[in-house]
Amino acid sequence: MAELNLDGVTKVFGEGSGNEVLAVEDVNIDIDDGEFLVLVGPSGCGKSTTLRMVAGLESISSGEIRLDGRRINEQPPAARDIAMVFQSYALYPHMTVRQNMSFGLEESTDLDDDTIESTVTDAAAKLDITELLDRKPGELSGGQQQRVALGRAIVRDPAVFLMDEPLSNLDAKLRAGMRTELQRLQEDLDVTTVYVTHDQTEAMTMGDRIAVLNDGQLMQVGSPLDLYHRPANQFVAGFIGDPSMNFFSVTHEDGRLVGEGFAYPLSSETERDVGDVEDCVLGVRPEDVTLVGSETDAHDFQVDVDVVEPMGNENNVYLSFPDADPDVSGDGPGTFVATVGGMRQVERESTVVARIPEDAIHVFDAESGAALH
Ligand code: ATP
Repeated sequence: MAELNLDGVTKVFGEGSGNEVLAVEDVNIDIDDGEFLVLVGPSGCGKSTTLRMVAGLESISSGEIRLDGRRINEQPPAARDIAMVFQSYALYPHMTVRQNMSFGLEESTDLDDDTIESTVTDAAAKLDITELLDRKPGELSGGQQQRVALGRAIVRDPAVFLMDEPLSNLDAKLRAGMRTELQRLQEDLDVTTVYVTHDQTEAMTMGDRIAVLNDGQLMQVGSPLDLYHRPANQFVAGFIGDPSMNFFSVTHEDGRLVGEGFAYPLSSETERDVGDVEDCVLGVRPEDVTLVGSETDAHDFQVDVDVVEPMGNENNVYLSFPDADPDVSGDGPGTFVATVGGMRQVERESTVVARIPEDAIHVFDAESGAALH
């Protein structure tokens, strides 16, 4: 049983040196026992630093980390009952798989040889690497090395698993397979897990909950569906989802959002949410834009088809409002993407009617980025 709490956790590198880097700022996350929490964000946002503070590999500038209610800030890594799996696997090349997996147990526990042997054998069976136990890391594929690295963490039976981009060295197909396997394993073992990735797809498919970091700050913590449907701000809205959410700079006036080449009427409910904020950003996901036969709704717009990108089962259709400034047509303010079924024929350079349904729109405060609706 292990609950992990990050309470106001902050990391400043080079404190007092005059060359300080605020890498993590006042991060608060409560991770439940047995939960799979994914920490996601762009490069340099502070994911690894956060994980390393939990592991004890990096000191904490301020705030508190608690494991099952106990402060662990000052505990050395080995005393924390936490196992970390690195991107690089960090296997000992001169040792066999068996030795790699048993090494930590021999060093840090007083278990007898038979218990260690059976613990390693059990973990190897769980990971389907029994037949590799006498090989050395150099004789294994990337995926197999990954399993050994996991095995080494599992045998310690830790209270918490920390994983730092553990799949990033694998090719795309293997990565997809390992994602499912890791999830299954985590469920079986029921160990509280914090998993770091910069890949939003990985975050969306693996996490019970996702914590999004940007620039050292926690943007939002929630279930994958929460983040997708109710992003707290424009950063999360743009980070989660592929292709990314379309954004339009708009002015809120007379019950409408007026953008480059279009005016979008608002219902009274949306109007209430937006309040008296004038400079806004209208957001709509590509999969929520539909192409319809003719203009029958106030949220239907005549648009030009600039590019059609076939993706197999669907097409990404790049559209622009005809009245938008032609200089910027292509990827400027009046342009956006719709994802439509692959069976539907859309001609490049034709005109179509795009529907941007009001129940699918998001509105953000242009200045703060906060979600208004
Ligand atoms: P990536 O996905 O690229 O690994 P990340 O989200 O894990 O990035 P961190 O490695 O945690 O980001 O780095 C966060 C910030 O702290 C960055 O600005 C980085 O340059 C800075 N940083 C990290 N380690 C140090 C250090 N030892 N000294 C000074 N600054 C550091």
